[in-house]
Amino acid sequence: MARVTPRPEATHNRILIPLKERCEQCDQPLSVSNHGHRSVATLSGQWKLTLVIRQCIQPDCPNSHQHQRPEEEGRWALPHGEFGLEVIALIGQWRFREHRSVPEMHQALQARGVSIVLRSVTHLMHRYEE
Ligand SMILES: [Zn+2]
Repeated sequence: MARVTPRPEATHNRILIPLKERCEQCDQPLSVSNHGHRSVATLSGQWKLTLVIRQCIQPDCPNSHQHQRPEEEGRWALPHGEFGLEVIALIGQWRFREHRSVPEMHQALQARGVSIVLRSVTHLMHRYEE
């Protein structure tokens, strides 16, 4: 889903580092190969996440092409998602416990400072159902 309005400025920054420091295959230390960036909207604000990506540097290791992403990344949002899991959980609660409509949930999220468009609320409601 392409964004038509600019993403809001991050209000918080966090660096996520993989816990794993050694290669599972060859037990050599993993090296930082890259830094990824994600922007995640949560109920506490807009977060800019910097992800430290590690990789085995032994050329003959079977894991040398595998990238080790921070384990914590999955706690923040779904893969490729730009809204935090807590936002999806809240939408699910509002929808299925309180039977709120999409426009009501959209308005309530905006009132809580979450910059979101109507169709993203619908999309997240479907993700919650999955
Ligand atoms: Zn290795």
